[in-house]
Amino acid sequence: MGRTGAESTAAVVGGGPAGLMAAEVLARAGVRVTVHEHMPSVGRKLLLAGRSGLNLTHSEPLEVMIGRYGRAASRLEPALRAFDAAALRAWSADLGEPTFIGTSRRVFPASMRATPLLRAWLRRLDELEVVIETRVRWTGWDHDGSVLMEHADGRTTSVSADVVVFALGGASWPRVGSDGGWVPLFREAGIDVRSLRSANCGLVRGWSADFLEHHGGEPLKNVQLSAGDVRARGDIVITATGLEGGPVYTVSSAVRDEIAGGSPGMLTVNLLPDQSATQVALRLGQRRP
Ligand SMILES: Cc1cc2nc3c(=O)[nH]c(=O)nc-3n(C[C@H](O)[C@H](O)[C@H](O)COP(=O)(O)OP(=O)(O)OC[C@H]3O[C@@H](n4cnc5c(N)ncnc54)[C@H](O)[C@@H]3O)c2cc1C
Repeated sequence: MGRTGAESTAAVVGGGPAGLMAAEVLARAGVRVTVHEHMPSVGRKLLLAGRSGLNLTHSEPLEVMIGRYGRAASRLEPALRAFDAAALRAWSADLGEPTFIGTSRRVFPASMRATPLLRAWLRRLDELEVVIETRVRWTGWDHDGSVLMEHADGRTTSVSADVVVFALGGASWPRVGSDGGWVPLFREAGIDVRSLRSANCGLVRGWSADFLEHHGGEPLKNVQLSAGDVRARGDIVITATGLEGGPVYTVSSAVRDEIAGGSPGMLTVNLLPDQSATQVALRLGQRRP
């Protein structure tokens, strides 16, 4: 797709899904875009996410989804309304990856994987004449406000553009490029950055050897978890170090906040959420001790 007229330029730093989406939107608006990525290829974390089934979005009503963002909800609401789950699904289908709604009401691409989606996305960006430059690491700002890029051969170049988009990701999984190295650079430049926190993670629990021997690796089906005001229901797994699974990830930020607030981080697991305590007592009473 060609562009006409005087062109604005954009430097997008970071080639994860956020950076690639920024590049697509800018290129469609007629801006000449270069994506600068310090790994040998873009979208590595997205590919990792696709290994366990790429959950693109959720089919729940938009109002409910907005509420999931907690304190950030009001800030993110305009973006979520402008590009909601239906728009994301249409975007994926347009890239040749139609989506389906799973039993958990979460939305996945038909292939479940990220590889075909990323491949088609990169083809589209190429058609939009987006330049992707890899093995260049953003290291700060030059005195004139342009951004400094360190190349694999040790050279540093200065890039100036009409707009610079930083899409540098978080700090989990540094081996896919998201190492959080941008935080001190921003702080040194006087930009206030809140400390990075895990948004979505498994929970660590010191199981006894005896418990692990009997239950390690076991799934807990259709349980209800609650922590703080957050509840989640579904299947979880007892791992060697704690608990994993969709509902665990949903409540993990509430547990994190409790720990940060000085509490022990209380997680309640209801193993039989559809039965009352009386019903459970009755059933247990009917069993052999
Ligand atoms: C195991 C796993 C499973 C997941 N499953 C899902 C899922 O099913 N659904 C879902 O929606 N999300 C999932 N996620 C989360 C998802 O991968 C992230 O939310 C997403 O990748 C964030 O996108 P981003 O573009 O903000 O950041 P990132 O993907 O982290 O991209 C940031 C990019 O910036 C680059 N970069 C960083 N610093 C510099 C620098 N100084 N100079 C140049 N480049 C730099 C990095 O190399 C990276 O390519 C999963 C994550 C993991 C680890």
